[in-house]
Amino acid sequence: MPDPVIILGSGLAGYAVARELRKLDPQIPIMMVSADHGGFYSKPMLSNALTTGKTADSILNGDADKMASQLNIKIQAQVRVTAIDKSERTIMLENGERLSYSQLVLALGADQICLPLDGNGVDEILTVNDLDDYRHFREVLEGKKQISIIGAGLIGCEFANDLAGAGFEVNVLDISNQPLGRLLPSEAGQFIQKKLEAVGVTFHFSSTAKSVDKVDGRMCVTLDSGQVLAADLVLSSVGLRSRTQLAKDAGLTVNRGIVVNQLLQTSAENIFAIGDCAEVKGKVLPFVMPITHAGRALAATLSGNPTPVHYPAMPVMVKTSACQTVVSPPDSDVSGTWQVETSQEGVKALFQDADGNLLGYALLGAAVKEKMALTPQLPPVLK
Ligand SMILES: Cc1cc2nc3c(=O)[nH]c(=O)nc-3n(C[C@H](O)[C@H](O)[C@H](O)COP(=O)(O)OP(=O)(O)OC[C@H]3O[C@@H](n4cnc5c(N)ncnc54)[C@H](O)[C@@H]3O)c2cc1C
Repeated sequence: MPDPVIILGSGLAGYAVARELRKLDPQIPIMMVSADHGGFYSKPMLSNALTTGKTADSILNGDADKMASQLNIKIQAQVRVTAIDKSERTIMLENGERLSYSQLVLALGADQICLPLDGNGVDEILTVNDLDDYRHFREVLEGKKQISIIGAGLIGCEFANDLAGAGFEVNVLDISNQPLGRLLPSEAGQFIQKKLEAVGVTFHFSSTAKSVDKVDGRMCVTLDSGQVLAADLVLSSVGLRSRTQLAKDAGLTVNRGIVVNQLLQTSAENIFAIGDCAEVKGKVLPFVMPITHAGRALAATLSGNPTPVHYPAMPVMVKTSACQTVVSPPDSDVSGTWQVETSQEGVKALFQDADGNLLGYALLGAAVKEKMALTPQLPPVLK
């Protein structure tokens, strides 16, 4: 029996590779090793589950046993990998077990960034980055009323909309002066802000949290202005950091993510990386669509047909039901300007270069219907 392809991580990236590889090769031994429960679920469903009537249990599509038999793979769940020995082609598990691989796939995801805050309530700030976090969040949410969210990016705004829609009082604070500051020009930011305010979200912009304290069983978030927001629960969503430590300790090249080429191959032979942990030709893209494309390419490569990944334009739907929004942000190293048309019904913002070429867009409200016509005009994210 040859050594298996070992996939570290059971998130969307790990499962994309397992599923695509099994399609291409019904026989190849595949093992998945994961620090979590090892089941399959769609992470994007976590930030609108209240208003879509989902729970942590109903979001889980299949537990590790079901997925192992469905895909004919072995899954070792609830066990962390502590080291990779690339010359011996082995990994070390926290229980002391050592496993040999033929090819290794790192699908380790990313950690939520925790701000360095003062106060005796800091340890009770919640983040939601996986299904277990979400289960805990829903337990703590029970019987609560006022929620403060630190961060008005994509995940913060989606949670704010979901919580407000479910009847919670929601305060959101952000260092930026608008929601989705990294994705939207200011007119579009103002439009979505008004829509979210209309469903009951209160924003505090150009504000940073200094401390979070627990006073008489409640949380108090103190802003740099001195204003204090009372809350029953504080949720932080200020960004992600790729999980690179395991790769770094093994001597692989890491930067913002685990550095890979277009074959998704790390600096070590037979070790690949995909998903939120990977940096593909300088880009860390923590979204589902890049995983879908990369999963197919990597499966072909693992089965003996080296296949570089190509990314077309990959617009992201923001799941704010109060304001339909789709964005395809321009690459950070291109120059151009936003051309913005605003009406009562929506915002159409096009990012164009000096020759009028479309490099990115943000479509809100009624303008979302232009997505199909505009997307083919965008350049590919990775040729
Ligand atoms: C709330 C929320 C909403 C989102 N909504 C959208 C959306 O609408 N659209 C979109 O495109 N994207 C969205 N995203 C982003 C998208 O969900 C992620 O890009 C994607 O799920 C990442 O998958 P992954 O497999 O790379 O990482 P993860 O799902 O984080 O999986 C990492 C896996 O690695 C395992 N692991 C880590 N370290 C070890 C170790 N040492 N040993 C063993 N196992 C280990 C973990 O247990 C886990 O199984 C959202 C993200 C969040 C948090």
